Amino acid sequence: MTADEQSMRRVTAIRNGTVIDHIPGGMVLQALQIFNVDGRHSNPISLVMNVPSRKLGTKDILKIEDRELTQEELDRLALIAPMASVSIIRNYSVAEKLSIQIGDEMINVAHCIYSNCISNAEREPLPHRLKVLKTSPMTLQCHYCGRIQNLDRLVNNLL
Ligand SMILES: [Zn+2]
Repeated sequence: MTADEQSMRRVTAIRNGTVIDHIPGGMVLQALQIFNVDGRHSNPISLVMNVPSRKLGTKDILKIEDRELTQEELDRLALIAPMASVSIIRNYSVAEKLSIQIGDEMINVAHCIYSNCISNAEREPLPHRLKVLKTSPMTLQCHYCGRIQNLDRLVNNLL
């Protein structure tokens, strides 16, 4: 192994935390948003963007140190990265492997893209509910107005 490879390894290996692989290329910033991670007060984070992937074309990888995401947090990723694979790292080795579980509904992950939907009315503090009609491709329907959501717009409506 060359010195470069060694230093690369040091940068990429984490001692404890969560590694999320197979995020579709370019979507890692949305993943951060889904996990409510912002740059100001958070653990060390490494992002790898747009590496070639046989499964996805290109993929992103996200590593969050010293935080083990829960299954519930991970399931929110179904919106952008249903194929993601997750490793919980403890003491530099994989302690657990998790995958995203896609339920029948995504609750309070994103709000309906239609501003005239009742779920977006301020005086109606309704939970935001999107029904999963299909997972490949991901097709979501608002529980309240019944309209199919445009995923590109929906990622701008993350809660
Ligand atoms: Zn709606």
